[in-house]
Amino acid sequence: MQFFYWNKSFEIGIGEIDRQHRKLVDFINVLAAAIVEGGRLPEVRDVAGQLLEYAASHFRAEEKLMDGCSLPDEEKVSHRHAHSLFVEKAQEILLRPDLLQEEVSQQVLEFLTTWLISHILGSDLKIAQGVPGGTQGQKQFDELLVDISPVERMLLGALTETERRFRLISDHTPVLIWVSDATGARGFFNRAWSDFVGVKDDSTLDDEWLTFVHPEDRSRYLALIESVMAESGSVEVEYRLRDYHGMYHWFLERVLPRIDTTGIMLGLIASATDITSIKQAEALLSQSNRELEQEVARRTEQLEQLMLTDALTGVGNRRMVTRRLEEEVVRSHRYGRPLTVAFFDIDLFKNINDTYGHAIGDSVLTHVAQSLKSCLRDCDLIGRFGGEEFVVLLPETLLDVAHGVTERMRRAVEQLNPLHLSRSVTISVGLAELRENETGDDLLARSDRALYLAKKSGRNCCRVDR
Ligand code: GH3
Ligand code: MG
Ligand code: MG
Repeated sequence: MQFFYWNKSFEIGIGEIDRQHRKLVDFINVLAAAIVEGGRLPEVRDVAGQLLEYAASHFRAEEKLMDGCSLPDEEKVSHRHAHSLFVEKAQEILLRPDLLQEEVSQQVLEFLTTWLISHILGSDLKIAQGVPGGTQGQKQFDELLVDISPVERMLLGALTETERRFRLISDHTPVLIWVSDATGARGFFNRAWSDFVGVKDDSTLDDEWLTFVHPEDRSRYLALIESVMAESGSVEVEYRLRDYHGMYHWFLERVLPRIDTTGIMLGLIASATDITSIKQAEALLSQSNRELEQEVARRTEQLEQLMLTDALTGVGNRRMVTRRLEEEVVRSHRYGRPLTVAFFDIDLFKNINDTYGHAIGDSVLTHVAQSLKSCLRDCDLIGRFGGEEFVVLLPETLLDVAHGVTERMRRAVEQLNPLHLSRSVTISVGLAELRENETGDDLLARSDRALYLAKKSGRNCCRVDR
């Protein structure tokens, strides 16, 4: 974990001292990691002890160097004093029993970093100034003197502090954050990111991060990132990321361009939240919606079927007959195809009821309906039109052909007598074929008229209206 970010401005130009300063920075980072990552007190103390020991040896080296340089004596004294003050103060705070409490540890790290900056940029620069000239180190130092003004020093301190705050915030949020530079290289992943994918060393993530993105989402994701880089607008993208168990989670990521005050694109910053549970709830909801829709459709169909079916006989009802008749009439007129309608009426049905009772009458109705239906093709339709009346639609059937069909139907009913009644049940039929420009109602009326003729002719016969 990087807590304190070293940058070139911290180099004072004396190789060995710079190397030691960097080492101090490393120690502070190790200590910060031990504290922030939940190390136990003895371990943290151990790291703190190493830091102090190293600081002491560094001070000795620096003081030795200082002895040989041309600084005024009072500067040397005050520098030495600053060293011993640091050791004293650092020892005191690093021995605090409440060192691991968040507030205290933050203060400690703040003290160490602030001190380090002021130590390096303040007093140590003066040593460098006092070191005899002519060396490469001195040359670098001269440049530094020009570069680092007190204001710049303050700004550098503030910058480091800002970075530290950003790190603290980003490492304590459950949101996954990454930052890239203008080339797209992702130099920063917050702790939530590396913890989620289970990578301890986040320095390898820049090369590896894409391997954690679901293969099916990669090209879409990369294209969106490209578009932010190219157009400098922000985007929101949903994609799947593999966790350290190998399970994919859905994330909603907002990617923003980082643009400096002069309008130059510095790179991107993105934050992503886990929306797996929302996705699952959505999927569940749409699944149950689909099931509900299917159920509604199934029931509607059942209901429609019921509305068009005669409850007693199971064949179509009057509504069904009228509806289909209208459709068939339109079709017949449009394509010039024949359509014949047959009107059936059970003969002397009243007698059956009177002799055998209403229940037997019902049973006779059902048997007759099924017998008539069994003589028909799939494209024909039979419906119960009234009490003991049935209408049969015979599309694509000429009158004479239909006559043959209904004659067979009449005979089938005559021979049926399924209930072994003392006399057989018979049926009369009236037939009519659709005429040009004729309506369904007119056709039906003509077939009814033919039925009347059949009744008048002695029943159990077919009559045709031509
Ligand atoms: P016709 O040969 O002239 O048609 O004589 P019919 O007796 O069949 O004709 P009518 O119209 O006089 O009587 C029809 C009978 O059908 C009267 C009615 O009680 C009976 N009926 C109508 N609907 C049902 C029903 O759902 N169940 C039973 N069992 N009888 C019914
Ligand atoms: Mg009748
Ligand atoms: Mg009748």
